[in-house]
Amino acid sequence: MNEELIQSSKMAALGKLAAGVAHEVNNPLAVIREKAGWMRDLLEEEDVKASPNFQEFVDAVDKIEQHVERAGTVVHRMLGFARRMEPVCNDLYINDVLKQTTAFLENEIRFRNIELIWALNPDLPTIQSDAAQIQQVILNLFNNAIDAIGRNGHITVKTGYEAETDMVSISLRDDGPGMDKEVQRRIFDPFFTTKNVGEGTGLGLSISYSIINKLGGSIRFESEAGKGTEFIILLPVKHHD
Ligand code: ADP
Repeated sequence: MNEELIQSSKMAALGKLAAGVAHEVNNPLAVIREKAGWMRDLLEEEDVKASPNFQEFVDAVDKIEQHVERAGTVVHRMLGFARRMEPVCNDLYINDVLKQTTAFLENEIRFRNIELIWALNPDLPTIQSDAAQIQQVILNLFNNAIDAIGRNGHITVKTGYEAETDMVSISLRDDGPGMDKEVQRRIFDPFFTTKNVGEGTGLGLSISYSIINKLGGSIRFESEAGKGTEFIILLPVKHHD
């Protein structure tokens, strides 16, 4: 599979983690920074200066401040990295985005003897959205469908337009083993996976969910054990901030 896409999937996972970690680390860092400032002020007092351990205090405060500074830089970088995950919206023709994404998967699909069935609506309006992020979601859904089928099956890709809501729909259906109710309840949870260690991170669908949400759309699924699974994404034609 295309290296850039693998990387962008990893980046999105990291971006989400980074934003969370940066937030959590920033608050304690602010407290440590403030207390270190208070200790530095104390070092100006005559009785502290007279202490036999004065130089050790100075060294300790220097170290604390240096390391808080270092941690602060890391947090700052992480936040910058996470912010790059904000959508960048352009005019897109969803059928093209789908075709481009599946081009990366053609070999894998052929190798596994999976038939790709296209049911694209040729009269879709263009939408204002983020191509790279949509591509990442589609890729996650495809990878899950391919994993579920294993070998010998069908994946149907359908697009449509809902005039009432002014939304474009993308549906991806596989005739893999489907999911039982217990799995269905948890698939959007971060780190939930039924795949072997090293084969699944359990982040694909939780990231997809948050991406589609951020783009103003929705993602839902229908699945039946033994029959297969369909994911349906709705995306607004116009982007609202
Ligand atoms: P991962 O693919 O790393 O396991 P995901 O969040 O993408 O993480 O998926 C979570 C779980 O949802 C999968 O491990 C699988 O059990 C289930 N799942 C997702 N898509 C399908 C599908 N098309 N068919 C069957 N199960 C699926």
